[in-house]
Amino acid sequence: MGVPLPPAANTHESGEPLERAQRDVVALGIAIAALILFVGIGGRVMPQILRSWLGMQQPPDMLLTNALLLNVALLIFGWRRYEELRREVGVRRIAEEKARALAESDPLTGCRNRRGITPAIDEMLRVAHEQQQEVALLLIDLDNFKTINDRCGHKAGDAVLVETAMRIERLLPADGICARMGGDEFACAFTFDEGDRARADRLAADIVGAISTPVTVADLTIDVTVSVGLAASRQPGNGNSQPDAEMLIHWSDIAMYHAKKSGRDRHAWFEPQMESEIRFRNALESGLRRGIGAGEFVPYYQQQIDIQTGKLVGFEMLARWKSPEFGIVSPDMFIPLAEDLGVIDKLSESLIRAALEDAKGWNPELTLAVNISPLQLRDPWFAQKLLRLLTECGFPPQRFEIEITESCLHENIAVVRSILTSLKNQGVKVSLDDFGTGFSSLAQLRALPFDRLKIDRSFVTELANEGANSELVAAIVALGRGLGLPIVAEGIENDEALAALRKLGDIKGQGFLYGKPEDAEATLERLMAQAAREISPANHSLPESKRAAG
Ligand code: C2E
Ligand code: CA
Ligand code: CA
Repeated sequence: MGVPLPPAANTHESGEPLERAQRDVVALGIAIAALILFVGIGGRVMPQILRSWLGMQQPPDMLLTNALLLNVALLIFGWRRYEELRREVGVRRIAEEKARALAESDPLTGCRNRRGITPAIDEMLRVAHEQQQEVALLLIDLDNFKTINDRCGHKAGDAVLVETAMRIERLLPADGICARMGGDEFACAFTFDEGDRARADRLAADIVGAISTPVTVADLTIDVTVSVGLAASRQPGNGNSQPDAEMLIHWSDIAMYHAKKSGRDRHAWFEPQMESEIRFRNALESGLRRGIGAGEFVPYYQQQIDIQTGKLVGFEMLARWKSPEFGIVSPDMFIPLAEDLGVIDKLSESLIRAALEDAKGWNPELTLAVNISPLQLRDPWFAQKLLRLLTECGFPPQRFEIEITESCLHENIAVVRSILTSLKNQGVKVSLDDFGTGFSSLAQLRALPFDRLKIDRSFVTELANEGANSELVAAIVALGRGLGLPIVAEGIENDEALAALRKLGDIKGQGFLYGKPEDAEATLERLMAQAAREISPANHSLPESKRAAG
């Protein structure tokens, strides 16, 4: 006789409910048939056996007795099989539950993982909706986790993650749930009374505060900061419609990205317009990746002039992105993006190569200056790569300059110093760009072998104003002299600024007064026109500065 299969016996097969239902009906049929048979045969044979035992009758019908015995054996066998299966299924169910718990939790911190929190948030959203409450979701990302791992080791990194999870859980309300979403990213969700965003805001601030307390691992004290994105289930303008867990995570992810962009170590609420910003950034990102290969990034050149004589001494290369989608894009927009995407080296190399080819066609006395991102100075092979590029293009290193900003002083100074020394040994000059805007001490400035200082444009622009603070610029120039470094003033826009700078002595300058950055073709035309003027004797009566200004 058959035994109905318990329900969980084959839970994983697809299309399984229908198949199982059919099998259950068959098994039930067999069981009922066996029982009917048992009752039917038993009803006939048992009285015969009884009467035979009491000596009232001949022995019972052997065929029927055997059938009855077979039926009993079948029932016993079936029962035992049923028990066995029940046990087996029980064991399997426990194993499955364990596997599911493992699959839904994070082994390091013990809290849920992404797979575990998603259904829990969905359930929370459902209950909150019924009880006129809102759900807040916080997406928490450690700002400097990679550095912690690199500097303090993976064990310390793990300890920071465990401590972070504990700090979050300690602050969460009773109904709150927490998960490690992967890497250094955590999420937590909790409910709050409709409209009471202030509470969610307070909790987010508390969490940011708690995680930002330094973590002590062995004898190391590790500083941690976090960026937090927040989203609530009720969005203004979204009417009564409820997001699901995935949507809520997506929103807080966007808000978290925003918090990171606004300087990290803070939290930000999701706002619908952030979504279009992200879309724009994504388009910019893929455009940039494509554009590098397609040669859309081109060098522009701005003249550098000796402001006393008005003589052109060289050019600074300033990158431009001629994007078919976005038009001409400024480097202030795409350089940070290229840095974020880790393609700044590649981009810079292709720009410098193009610039070297252009500059080879100029008067051989003219110098070429290029801007170098602090990230490029993290590469210990940077100097070798740059020198090889110069050799490949056949460009004399003595005509080449790099401009770096004070932020490179925050990099590994020993690596930066060795890079700069290698370059200088080959004749390349090094300028400190945007001087005056950073916070470097004189001692730090002297730690690196600069050849000149470029006073930041903001100070120079200021010179043109009535009653301007020319003393500040004078002080910066004096500082440069004290360090034994020549000065370049950038951002000279008008005659007033130029006159004020001229009083300060021997300075090189660049700015819109002399000319805006131009592409290779316009630069070459300018140079040819200038050469023609120099040949023509009539031109010698013009002041040099007017000639250079074109
Ligand atoms: P920067 O090195 O300080 O370059 C000077 C910026 O001031 C340039 O902006 C230039 O066009 C602008 N400028 C020049 N003269 C004047 C003036 O008289 N008035 C005003 N208002 N502005 C003037 P640009 O070309 O937009 O470049 C912005 C920044 O992007 C540069 O600042 C530089 O830090 C960075 N950059 C440009 N090209 C590259 C590159 O190839 N690699 C790297 N890493 N950074 C680059
Ligand atoms: Ca520069
Ligand atoms: Ca500058």
